[in-house]
Amino acid sequence: MAAARVGRALHASSLSPSTLVVSRVQLHLRPPYPRHLLLPNYHTCRAAPPSRYRPPSRRVRCAMSGATGNPYAAELAAAKKAVALAARLCQAVQKDIVQSGVQSKADKSPVTVADYGSQILVSLVLKMESPVSSTFSLVAEEDSEELRKEGAEEILENITELVNETIADDGSYSIYFSKEGILSAIDDGKSEGGSSGRHWVLDPIDGTKGFLRGEQYAIALALLDEGKVVLGVLACPNLPLGSIGNLNGGSSGDQVGALFSATIGCGAEVESLQGSPPQKISVCSIDNPVNASFFESYEGAHSMHDLTGSIAEVCESYIGNLVFECWQKLGVQAPPVRIDSQAKYGALARGDGAIYLRFPHTGYREKIWDHAAGSIVVTEAGGIVTDASGNDLDFSKGRFLDLDTGIIATNKQLMPSLLKAVQEAIKEKNQAASPL
Ligand code: AMP
Ligand code: MG
Repeated sequence: MAAARVGRALHASSLSPSTLVVSRVQLHLRPPYPRHLLLPNYHTCRAAPPSRYRPPSRRVRCAMSGATGNPYAAELAAAKKAVALAARLCQAVQKDIVQSGVQSKADKSPVTVADYGSQILVSLVLKMESPVSSTFSLVAEEDSEELRKEGAEEILENITELVNETIADDGSYSIYFSKEGILSAIDDGKSEGGSSGRHWVLDPIDGTKGFLRGEQYAIALALLDEGKVVLGVLACPNLPLGSIGNLNGGSSGDQVGALFSATIGCGAEVESLQGSPPQKISVCSIDNPVNASFFESYEGAHSMHDLTGSIAEVCESYIGNLVFECWQKLGVQAPPVRIDSQAKYGALARGDGAIYLRFPHTGYREKIWDHAAGSIVVTEAGGIVTDASGNDLDFSKGRFLDLDTGIIATNKQLMPSLLKAVQEAIKEKNQAASPL
């Protein structure tokens, strides 16, 4: 009996050193631990399977991927479970925000609570589901600095309550976090990533502005292995499971909540966030820019809408041979589809639109968690994601992406004309800015 309790305690302490509470018993364990107790027993902390999201069997998933075997199958299952649990917490908070009817949405504290809560839950599930021998490294957007400041007590209290409620409601783990446990769990995400070893990369709520407006957001999680993205999952709680093509953000289906996933060499899939058989997805096969539509940020502060408009614009001399005549400007006729978050990558990957353009204003440095999961979902669906010079995105350099000017994504057929249009529009913009 006592041994069982210590076993549970030690496993929990490896999740959140010295401060986690298991079954509401506060632990104060300090290393070095007795060696025989360092072998976590993953079953001791598990109760029932998750009540909503039920991952399909490994055999089904690999068959759907068209692969003979998925070397990251265990990590993929853990990642899906992690973002699905985090999504439940986020959905509960967003529902409160929307129902509270605060017009200005000036109070940012609910999204802050959800952001931290999501990060803690993802980190928890990844640790619980990881192989015993693996080291855990997480590059995540949030750290605990703000929460440790005076005046943050109420937010910390709210996060702690919400996280514990979500874990209890799910029923997968018999774990209870203390406030100090919450703070140290957040700091699990402080890894710098890099080109060696494995690192999880997380944006706990991508598109916080969309979240506050009651619109699109995503929980985006990827795995880097030796500097390459090898796996990505995107939970998009407000994205219809069916296509949003041609509707400028509207829905063509009833079911809402999409979970995109991709593993290197195994293709990309989408399933419902509640768990349905995964369906293989692919980017659209449009090869004429006139028939293409493009996604961009809802927020003009995140991407230069004037530049993307000029890239996409129909050139005046357009008649006859479109691709030849319009190489400078793409000739896209549909208006931009503006949505928040990496949901854009998911929608592109399943062919809802043909192009994604992102051109942050001068001086902004892109972070790896804003693109790691989305980019692999698109590339595994047959698309291409590059910077404005046509270079692949390099996720091996730490927390930032060093890239030239912007990010573009489309299918293989459209990429050559897109790149030309992008480069021409950037040249024009630069010339206009400094005419001499
Ligand atoms: P999106 O919804 O596609 O515009 O992207 C949302 C993400 O943009 C956020 O999660 C931020 O990490 C990132 N972001 C924040 N500020 C900026 C900025 N000034 N320019 C570009 N991206 C930004
Ligand atoms: Mg983000």
